[in-house]
Amino acid sequence: MTTIGFIGLGNMGNPMAANLVKAGYAVHGFDLVPENLKTARDNGVVVMANGVAAAKDAEIVITMLPAGKHVLSVYEDIAPKAAKGTLFIDSSTIDVDSARKAHAIAGKHGLLSIDAPVSGGTGGAAAGTLTFMAGGSKEAFAKAEPVLQPMAGRIVHCGDAGAGQAAKICNNMILGVSMIGVAEAFVLAEKLGLSHQALFDVASTSSGQCWSLTTYCPVPGPVPNSPANRDYQPGFAAALMLKDLKLAQEAAQQSGAVTPLGAEAAQLYALFNAQGHGGADFSGIIKFLRGDSA
Ligand code: NAD
Repeated sequence: MTTIGFIGLGNMGNPMAANLVKAGYAVHGFDLVPENLKTARDNGVVVMANGVAAAKDAEIVITMLPAGKHVLSVYEDIAPKAAKGTLFIDSSTIDVDSARKAHAIAGKHGLLSIDAPVSGGTGGAAAGTLTFMAGGSKEAFAKAEPVLQPMAGRIVHCGDAGAGQAAKICNNMILGVSMIGVAEAFVLAEKLGLSHQALFDVASTSSGQCWSLTTYCPVPGPVPNSPANRDYQPGFAAALMLKDLKLAQEAAQQSGAVTPLGAEAAQLYALFNAQGHGGADFSGIIKFLRGDSA
């Protein structure tokens, strides 16, 4: 039986690890939060005393951590003690620069590595339908693909080290900008006396069509499952959208890309978060645009 080390058993990591257990892998897990370890144990994960122990007998180690600094600190800890040829998969959403540093640490110790951030949220993690965007060598990707399968709806090899993180932040910049665009259109429609349903019926089959409108509609009614219908409970929290938009801006500054709408979206989500709405779904930005969220 293949053993997988899983470090970071939070909102995403725990359901992902549970799907690996269901698929027949032995999963050795670790997290800093005792409550998360209890959930992991209930899901059939073998709970270990620390990250080094979780990685020790594993052929593959998956990390699902908050940010780049956590990933680099865990890699510095566990990489020197892992067996040569072990595959490290980092599925956290982190900055491209830290992702490349993580690959370098793994390479220095004779390990294979890929960055493989995900989209699909906690619902996708539970259902095993996440989209994985992977960066790394062909050899590392080939070894990772079957392991990602039980957690995935789709797996895309985006290129070399860091390409998965690059794809993730570019995608989420589109998402943040498009959600604001759709929300602004509904706010304007309200002022013009146009019903939500009428705008939806036209735009969803016209050139304004996009995921933020047709799947995640920011007003209640037209798309019954969108978070707007449950008072903007996430879904995808505004705090995480802000995190990803900031990562995109950092990458834009470092690479010299001009992204004025991405910058504006980051500013608007920062204000929305500052008003205390970080835990709300990111489509709740429509309340901020109407001026009724304070
Ligand atoms: P989370 O905060 O629920 O989980 C992160 C876990 O990492 C926590 O349980 C924390 O205790 C643990 N941790 C931190 N440092 C550790 C260490 N040194 N050793 C062991 N465990 C450690 O966050 P999440 O929602 O599960 O997200 C994880 C990552 O996935 C983030 O990078 C996030 O941006 C990304 N992501 C989240 C979502 C989502 O909808 N939640 C969607 C896509 C991507």
